[in-house]
Amino acid sequence: MGANNNLSVSGIEALQKLIDGNKRFMTGKLALKDTGGTRRGNLVKGQKPFAVIIACSDSRVPPELIFDQALGDLFIVRTAGNVVDPIAVGSVEYAVEHLLAPLVVVMGHDYCGAVKAAVDGGEAPGSINTIIAKLMPSVEKAKATGATGHDLYELATDENIKKTVEELQESPIIKHFLEGKKITLKGAKYFLKTGEVVFD
Ligand SMILES: [Zn+2]
Repeated sequence: MGANNNLSVSGIEALQKLIDGNKRFMTGKLALKDTGGTRRGNLVKGQKPFAVIIACSDSRVPPELIFDQALGDLFIVRTAGNVVDPIAVGSVEYAVEHLLAPLVVVMGHDYCGAVKAAVDGGEAPGSINTIIAKLMPSVEKAKATGATGHDLYELATDENIKKTVEELQESPIIKHFLEGKKITLKGAKYFLKTGEVVFD
């Protein structure tokens, strides 16, 4: 996807940190993390997260654990199905413009319940419908390929990751930072069983 043409140096370094952390997570060799009073006290003065992660709310995909990162490292927006609305986009804009985070990652995952619900259809009560409606264009795209069963769920998930990346690119603030090569924007998918995050 087009965002890959906008790799910034600090964005590449940040990406490598996530890749290294994910390797530690996969192999169970977690880094020691300072969560003590001194570290917390230093963070009172301000935060400087090196990456923004837009992830699914699913309890199985917590970014700090998956990327083996500590306090103050990641700025995270989580919604069911990793879809974004103006509040979510505004949160990303804040992290990019105000905190100068050099990397933004949209991370979907396999076996996503939100995507499955959108594919399977039916009535969703309350505001869940807003999420389903947001996922539907990706579901339609996936269905158009003729895919069925589990393949269809995963294809819709992949389309939805791309769509969220595209929606972030539509933000004038994020667009400005991308064009200035100040940030890197990437899609990624987490696999529940292996624990691996595969970046686009
Ligand atoms: Zn999910």
